[in-house]
Order: sequence, then C-alpha cells, then structure tokens
Amino acid sequence: MRIAMIGTGYVGLVSGACFADFGHEVCCIDKDAGKIDGLNEGRMPIWEPGLEALVKANVERDRLEFTTDLATGVDGAEAVFIAVGTPARRGDGHADLSFVFGAVRELAKVVKPGTVVVTKSTVPVGTGDEIERILKEEGVTGVWVASNPEFLREGAAIADFKHPDRIVVGAEDEQAREVLREIYRPLFLNRAPILFAGRRTAELTKYAANAFLAVKISFINEIADLCEAVDADVQDVARGIGLDNRIGPKFLHAGPGYGGSCFPKDTVALLQTAETAGVDQRIVRTTVEVNDDRKASMVERVAAALGGEVAGKRIAVLGLAFKPNTDDMREAPSIPLVNSLIERGAKVAAFDPVAREQAEKLFQGVEFAPNAHAAANGADALVIVTEWDEFRALDLHKIARSMRGKVLVDLRNVYDRVEAKEAGLVHYGVGRGRQGGPDEQ
Ligand code: NAD
Repeated sequence: MRIAMIGTGYVGLVSGACFADFGHEVCCIDKDAGKIDGLNEGRMPIWEPGLEALVKANVERDRLEFTTDLATGVDGAEAVFIAVGTPARRGDGHADLSFVFGAVRELAKVVKPGTVVVTKSTVPVGTGDEIERILKEEGVTGVWVASNPEFLREGAAIADFKHPDRIVVGAEDEQAREVLREIYRPLFLNRAPILFAGRRTAELTKYAANAFLAVKISFINEIADLCEAVDADVQDVARGIGLDNRIGPKFLHAGPGYGGSCFPKDTVALLQTAETAGVDQRIVRTTVEVNDDRKASMVERVAAALGGEVAGKRIAVLGLAFKPNTDDMREAPSIPLVNSLIERGAKVAAFDPVAREQAEKLFQGVEFAPNAHAAANGADALVIVTEWDEFRALDLHKIARSMRGKVLVDLRNVYDRVEAKEAGLVHYGVGRGRQGGPDEQ
C-alpha cells in the first residue's frame, strides 16, 4: 500500500514510521520545512524512545520519505491520513479545526478518485461529514472519508502503535473499510482487535476514551486528598480497587493532575460538543474543574511543606515534561507550579532529562541544572514533578547532604517516608496518610 501522512508531528511521524515498518510505502508531509529538512538529514523533531532507529531503518529500505510538498507526497497514495494538530481554540476551547480543513482544501486540489482520506487527528463528531462537504465543494468526487483515531501514548508510542489494545475505524463505505483493513493487516497477526463503527461513532469514541481516563485520574486524586485527611494510604487504596477487573489498575496514580497535549484539550472539546448538542456532561465538566484546581494548588503543597512560605527559598524541581520519556511540555503540571513558585519569590533550579530545550522556551528566571544532584545542591526543598526512571534511584543520602533544607515533596509517590527519613529527609507524598505527622519530624 502507498500511504501519505499529512502532518509529521508526534502522531504523524510515529504512525508513518510504523506503517513503513509494516511494509507499506509511506510519505510524511509537513508544512514545517525545518522539521522535514531535519528528518531528511536524520534528525528527529521529537524525543520518543526507539523512533530514530525506526525512522532510519525504514528510510534506508526506501519505504519512508519526507516532503513539504503535498502534491508529491500524496501522488499515488491509496490512503491519505490527516494527522495535523487540533489544539484548543483560544477563547472557547472548541477543537481548532483550521489545520485539518486547511489540509483538506490543499488535498482537494490534487487528490485522485479512489483515494481514502482518513482522519487520524482527534476531531469532534461530524468533522468527517464536514471534510466530505469541503471535498464536494472543491469539486472532488470518488473519494471516501474515514475516521481512524489514534490512541498511542507519548513515551511508549511505537509499542502502542504496534501492539494496540484496539484499532477503531469509522467508515460509511465498504471500500474505505477494506483499505483500512489492508493497512492494518500486519497487526492482525498480533490479534489486535479492529472495531468497525460509523464515522461519527469512531470520532466520539476517541473523546470518550480520553475523558474516561481523565475521570479516573481526577477520581484517584480526590481520593488521595481524602486519604491525607483520614490517615489512609492512596497507594494501597488504588491497589485494592485496581485489582478488581471491573476497575483495572491503570490511571490510578495520585499526583499533580493530568497534563499533556491530549487530555486537557480533549476533555474541554468534548464539553463543547456536548454543549452544542444540548446535553450536559457533568462528570467530565467536574473532572476538568478538579484537574485545573489541582494543578494550580501544587504550589500550596510545596509552601505547606516549607512552613507556609516559599519566598527566598531555593526549590529544586525534578522533571518538567508532562510525563516521563517525552520532551513534550504541553499543559505540563510543572508549568503552573514553577511559575507560581517564581511569582512568590522562590528561586527554582530545575532538571529534566530531555525537556530542557522545550522548557527553556516557557520559563523565565529558572536555573536549569545539568542533573538531579546539581539541582538539589543547596536547595531548601526537592520537588519531584515527573517520575522519570532515573529519579527512582536517586542517592537520597547524597542529596540530603547537599541540600540546605530537608524537605522532599514527592508529587509522584516515587519514595516513601521511611526511606526518605533514613536519608534525613522529610517526605511529603500525595495521599500517603496524614502529612507532617510525628514520624516525619
Ligand atoms: P503536533 O503538533 O506534534 O504535529 C502536527 C503537525 O502537523 C505539525 O508538525 C504541523 O507543522 C503539521 N501541519 C499542520 N498543518 C499542516 C498542513 N496543512 N500540511 C502539513 N502539515 C501540517 O501534533 P500531534 O501531537 O502529533 O497531534 C496530532 C493529532 O493527533 C491531534 O489531533 C492530537 O489530538 C492527536 N493525538 C495526539 C496524540 C499524542 O500523544 N500527541 C495521541 C493521540 C492523538
């Protein structure tokens, strides 16, 4: 199969490289000439485990190429995927579809009859209908429009793409279903279930999935608050409920609230869809509120651990990316935390294994340290914001010796109070019983 991928970001590049690895011929297209030039010279625009090797191997096999020219990229393609961004629209939070529709209008000028146009971007219900309408308006005939939402997670994107829990295809025509079945045939060997649904249903499925995961996170975060008040341990509660197959253990890690390029914008976009449809979604609305409040309140945890005041204090922040194994800073919980610390007069020394370049564009007045130990040196408090593996094996004794204070605010529950205490640190976790109890002093 020959496939074109319009948009070579996290999703487009990973999907394109994986499709090429399945044996298809793929051309990834992007408007960003710097990105395409870099890829043609072997430089990855994002940090994602295994991506560079996968891209290089498939470029060498002549199955993967990159261009800025849409007409060249889609020439001869049986399927054209659209994987451009759908950020939240300023002001109202609706999904901004200008990149999607812009790509469709460009595509309309060159697309040949018999092509399947597939949205991989996360798009609100009815976008496929609108794409069909635009194509018709531009005089295009004989083209099918399908939806194939993507569920990969940054940081584990390649494994997720190659071993998905399911593939969702929304199509109204047998021709489109047949082309997508053929594209994903290599995954049938892995017994990945492929779900065929109506196009609108597939579009909504993606939002429902992200909203449900967001609900799970906010739920356990509220239970964590309750645990702190009643002296219970959220880790054990999460395990106790997660072992129930009906609940499942994933997305039950209490922390600083969810961030990233998907959950925040997709939950808000779902609410906008619901409002337009005249159907209230109270659970999702509350989840968004709970999460926004949570991210904004993390600075209070740091202040409380330091006796109420952060002004004049030196705070070491470990982890800036919204989660480990990515350099993606979009909506990261570190952003409101670091900004609030600085606004309140703290000095922040931060370290992230890969997100420094992205973070430098966002923060002013932050000192970027070359490693965790350098960040901790002279700090009054050490705050773990993102649970990178390398933060799981810190030499806490050495860190404690180099710090000025002894406060460890562990927003990801990487450590427990006993091991922190052995190193001479006072541990403030999330939902790990009553904070500041006598055993912590
Ligand atoms: P991204 O911002 O990393 O990449 C989008 C790319 O599209 C950019 O490189 C941009 O230059 C390019 N682009 C925009 N308009 C174009 C055009 N007309 N022609 C060619 N290129 C164009 O975005 P992303 O994170 O890959 O997300 C893409 C979509 O996938 C979004 O709808 C997102 O919600 C969804 N999604 C993302 C993830 C994730 O983990 N990032 C997971 C699942 C789904």
